[in-house]
Amino acid sequence: MPALSPTLTEITGGGSDGWEVFMRAREMIAAGTPVTELTIGEHDIRTDPIILDAMHVSACGGHTGYAMVPGIAALRREVAQRVQERTGVPTGPENVMITPGGQSALFASHLATCPKGKKALFIDPYYATYPGTLRAVGAIATPIEADAKGGFQPRAADIEVQAEGATSLLINSPNNPTGVVYTRNTLDGIAEVCKRRDLWLISDEVYDTQIWEGVHISPRALPDMAERTLVIGSMSKSHAMTGSRVGWIVGPRTAIEHLINLATHTTYGVAGFVQDAALFALEQGPALEAEIAAPFKRRRALTVNILAEQNVVKMISADGAMYVMLDIRATGLSGEAFANRLLDEHHIAVMPGESFGRAAAGHLRVAMTIEDTAYAAALRALCAFAAALCE
Ligand code: PMP
Repeated sequence: MPALSPTLTEITGGGSDGWEVFMRAREMIAAGTPVTELTIGEHDIRTDPIILDAMHVSACGGHTGYAMVPGIAALRREVAQRVQERTGVPTGPENVMITPGGQSALFASHLATCPKGKKALFIDPYYATYPGTLRAVGAIATPIEADAKGGFQPRAADIEVQAEGATSLLINSPNNPTGVVYTRNTLDGIAEVCKRRDLWLISDEVYDTQIWEGVHISPRALPDMAERTLVIGSMSKSHAMTGSRVGWIVGPRTAIEHLINLATHTTYGVAGFVQDAALFALEQGPALEAEIAAPFKRRRALTVNILAEQNVVKMISADGAMYVMLDIRATGLSGEAFANRLLDEHHIAVMPGESFGRAAAGHLRVAMTIEDTAYAAALRALCAFAAALCE
């Protein structure tokens, strides 16, 4: 076989991809061992049948040909209106491009803003695909640690240190993997650095409907930020539509025009019947979103109560998203060692913090994605295992 392009072969950076515990859990399940799976960010409900009905009606009505590359007009309008209502920033359909999920929006946004060989900044702990996505466009993926001591809130001064030679900064609030919601203070600091150092801000807001305390602030709404911010949105988490692959980028009109050229030469858009279903789902308004977020809100409260019964495992204050980050440093084990032993000895699978970067070492990410009783039992077993390690 002729050589493959290094742009492709170097996407993973040659290191571990962090999914070893997850893969081992999958193998155990395939071999017939029951495993309690708290690894992956996927709802324990399926897409609502009313949304599937809308998809079916659209497909049967003939919306199966090529759809408009930037997205169907009605969906771009709906997304623009939703963003404007929620952030106060004037937003029209010309500011919106529909994408096959948030992941491809992340890729397109970095291709749009990061020339090859320039630094693309991102915050560690990070969603597992981030460094690979940045490398996939030829950028130098440069992490900035937001440590546990600071509640995993990034500090503007740390970003400033890395800003030389960088063209973009990627942030994610509510955050995967920590569940942390960035404060106004954090976002003001980030906005100031972006303006001072002329950086694009790529704001991944795919968990914006999963807020348990406080409010979600979109940094695009901060003074003079709309012209340098690309917001990543998705139907995956807000409407339990992970498999439908529909999301969007919101940004300045000129950036969107160029991004549409990219879509023409890469994805050629999103299936029309999927877009019609997304439109229908968004038209149901915030009540449906709250209903889909409710189990995570409930389980997060359950987590707080269970962790209050002991003092070995500590919970990072998680104000949003479908995950909690647990600090298990008191056990003396790394997150990886703990997660591997928990899987082998108790058949419970969680993600080691190390899978999400250096800043989350000694932590575990627990996805609150199984039914309440089983979730509570797994969490109690995890705490008992941690306590036994300390004896
Ligand atoms: N960003 C974050 C932070 C995520 O956790 C995910 C999915 N887990 C995505 C983006 C991509 O989601 P999708 O492509 O399904 O929209």
